Amino acid sequence: MTTAPSSARWGERLWPGSAPRVVPDSLARIREEVVACARCPRLVEYRSRVARERKRSYASEEYWGRAVPGFGDPSARLVAVGLAPAAHGSNRTGRVFTGDRSAAFLVRAFHDAGYANQATSDHRGDGLRYRDLYLTAAVRCVPPGNHPTPAERARCAPFLERELRCLTETRAILALGGFAWDALRDVVPRVYGGTRPDVPFAHGACAPLGAGKPILWGSYHPSPQNTNTGKLTEPMLAQLLVRIRESYGGRPR
Ligand code: SF4
Repeated sequence: MTTAPSSARWGERLWPGSAPRVVPDSLARIREEVVACARCPRLVEYRSRVARERKRSYASEEYWGRAVPGFGDPSARLVAVGLAPAAHGSNRTGRVFTGDRSAAFLVRAFHDAGYANQATSDHRGDGLRYRDLYLTAAVRCVPPGNHPTPAERARCAPFLERELRCLTETRAILALGGFAWDALRDVVPRVYGGTRPDVPFAHGACAPLGAGKPILWGSYHPSPQNTNTGKLTEPMLAQLLVRIRESYGGRPR
């Protein structure tokens, strides 16, 4: 059987001169492309350097050191979007929101709300599974100082856009922090139509995208800067998750 060239990308013709034949997109295809992506020279250099130099407490570990793909339930009604991998969190473990204090706070909340089969997210082989929830990020490579540039955000946005197109059951999109909120405000009109939502970011911010379309929600990011100072507490996040799931009717399925 003839197979498509391995370099074929979503939406391209498979063979030069052939009739238009679109390669169907999928979360698996996006994942492959994310992991192989090296389009941002500054981030590629930084993610590799962090993986090479390592934190002393993880000196014996092999870091992932590449772009980090999304993870979760392909039939999810809730999609949560973070900023970018943390240097010694996802950039070390290779799974979104895994292996640092932000992950510990967030995954415990998702577990308590019924979206995760366990309350911890330590490494890729730890058995964590999400139901009715998909986690991803606005930028897939760790940025210096947790600050991607506008150009890096724009370059990575097509991955988020494509994921949202593949996640056809989505009823709610939760931006974890103002950076993800702004990235999503750019992306959602391209996926769902309509105009860019003009609701400012806040914890509990809510921007319905139109009849029959998802609602965009905002939460403070679960970073230690927010959770250690009480800006974001466990009850605040739990209450928001209740509001979100009530908006589309019911507990995780
Ligand atoms: S940030 Fe996104 S676009 Fe840039 S190299 Fe990483 S995966 Fe590719």
